[in-house]
Amino acid sequence: MENSQVIYRKYRPQRFSEVVGQEHVIKTLISAIKNSKVAHAYLFSGPRGTGKTTIARLLAKAVNCTDTSSYEPCNKCESCTEIMENRAMDLIEIDAASNRGIDEVRELKERIRFAPTHSRYKVFVIDEAHQLTKEAFNALLKTLEEPPAHAIFILATTEAHKMLPTILSRVQRFDFKKLSLTDVIKKLEMVAKKEGIKISDKALRIIALNSEGFMRDAESMLGQVIAFSGDKEITIEDIENILGIVDINLAIKFVDLLVKKNSSEALSFIDKFVNQGYDLVQFIESLITYSRKLMLVRVDNNLSRLVKDELSAEQLNTALKQAGEFSLVELSKIIEILLQTLYDMKRSSFPQINMELAVVEVCNR
Ligand SMILES: [Zn+2]
Repeated sequence: MENSQVIYRKYRPQRFSEVVGQEHVIKTLISAIKNSKVAHAYLFSGPRGTGKTTIARLLAKAVNCTDTSSYEPCNKCESCTEIMENRAMDLIEIDAASNRGIDEVRELKERIRFAPTHSRYKVFVIDEAHQLTKEAFNALLKTLEEPPAHAIFILATTEAHKMLPTILSRVQRFDFKKLSLTDVIKKLEMVAKKEGIKISDKALRIIALNSEGFMRDAESMLGQVIAFSGDKEITIEDIENILGIVDINLAIKFVDLLVKKNSSEALSFIDKFVNQGYDLVQFIESLITYSRKLMLVRVDNNLSRLVKDELSAEQLNTALKQAGEFSLVELSKIIEILLQTLYDMKRSSFPQINMELAVVEVCNR
């Protein structure tokens, strides 16, 4: 686990140009820095692991960097190094989830009042801002009404809908998006190259797919794989074994058995799968997401554009063929059964039996 954190920290972008994805955010921020029009309050909203605090720190570095020749932080001056070494007095990072007391609010108010120690701006990054207490919100609101010239607030949240409208109206808002598959692969390739790791494109792709667009998860998975595999080239099998990730090809093979209503072979498949030490929950999740793809292309071939990034050309071809073997009613019924089975399995003492029941039901449709 430690190693996975290391990868994430080590390759945390130190310049705007190193950030993968979130182009709309980066572009606007760079332009604000260039034109000295940085706002006093921002809201970074979006799912976890999409770079909100990373970009907040970049902004803090950029506004306080003493080398003003570029909008990029120089990463060399005293201010930049302080931030990179986590000892900057003028970058205050608050986790709202764990700083909810009256004292913390009072302290925050105090800290806002005082001018920065030696930088231009005092930057407050408030993570999980939706969890601030009412008192803290009110204190913050007062400050945001008339922000001191030396203060910049960056509120980060995964749940913007929980933020008070009065706060929302006083901040410039950026919505962070999950990264595209291509973006995640691009970053992983860069990390693998810098780490001197040999890893196949297919293996990287599986990691990226399973990260579902969350860079932090992708890097943490890559870190685990690196820790286990040492110097040898990392293969798809390694990834499956180490991360317990189920290759989509297994789901595709299994669906073939469902198409043929071959419950005997499908049950043997499950038994073999479990005996090899694979995780059934992950298998059924993989089966569910694959069946959803089948449903989409069954509804309309054109919808394959929604899934083509996540499948190879060959897999997409198979998917189109398999989808044709089912009626839409059958497919939606299968997904329903699988979803219910997943739910039951997580609460069951005999998850394999839940899976077997589902197989029998689907094959006897
Ligand atoms: Zn600097």
